[in-house]
Amino acid sequence: MIHMVKLVLFGLILMISMIGHSQSFTNSSIKEYLSMTGEVHTLALFIDTQYDSWEDEEIDYYYDQFEKSQDWLIDQAEDWNQSLTFENDYFISDNKSILYLKDVPRRKNVNYLINTLMEELGYNDFDDFIDSNNFDFENEKLKCILFVKSNNRSHAYNYWSVKKLDLAIIYCKSTYGMLTDQYVMAHEMLHQFGAWDLYYERGKVQTKESSTLAMENYPHSVMINTKKNKEMLAVDEVTAWRIGWSEFEDAFTVFDPKKNKEKIEQERKESKGNAIKFTLPTTTVKEEK
Ligand SMILES: [Zn+2]
Repeated sequence: MIHMVKLVLFGLILMISMIGHSQSFTNSSIKEYLSMTGEVHTLALFIDTQYDSWEDEEIDYYYDQFEKSQDWLIDQAEDWNQSLTFENDYFISDNKSILYLKDVPRRKNVNYLINTLMEELGYNDFDDFIDSNNFDFENEKLKCILFVKSNNRSHAYNYWSVKKLDLAIIYCKSTYGMLTDQYVMAHEMLHQFGAWDLYYERGKVQTKESSTLAMENYPHSVMINTKKNKEMLAVDEVTAWRIGWSEFEDAFTVFDPKKNKEKIEQERKESKGNAIKFTLPTTTVKEEK
């Protein structure tokens, strides 16, 4: 009897883990819609904030970098035998609009942000924008790029976090004042199609181990770094799979942010443990006083 229960339990666990596996890794129809292939429509908006406003020459510079990042991605796609084009003029009356939002902080309510943008453009909401432009949202690919006139860390949202619209938020400069260039833009656009960050940052995405492995295997990945050896930068194997340019390989699993969560938590606990040990002598000194 106990043996039977164990057998049923084992079967159940196996079934559940298989469901998880297929959801994460096989190219579903959603994945096909997401893949960075075929024609991609873009909507680029420039956002003035309370901190600063866009000058015409600046808009020209960033839009030029944006087009360069698209050319770079097209070249990369060719290297992977994929066809990729960008349609930048479909939303011609809205494209390159300058809108004002007091602030565009990181990790704000994105759906709210999208609807606010659409209202600023003169639509009722996002659905109205889609309908008014006769855009086939289900079958065509649309990515929105926001160029924000303030300093912060550029980032992107994709289908997995926002069902409505894939949004890349490009700040004109990084937190430390570094100018945002075509490689940062390409990095964020890759995120829009599901690419993972492959660099190490405490408490996020990659573990020390997996980030070291990424550095060894893909030293020129644009998902690791966008600043050094720019001429050498490329779309690595893991990213190529993520964006639908190549097949999945088992070796990629180690970079899965969801699977890394537990290990990252472990690393965090360990570093906290070290921190407590390190502060002990100070406490002793205080007690002596
Ligand atoms: Zn990133």
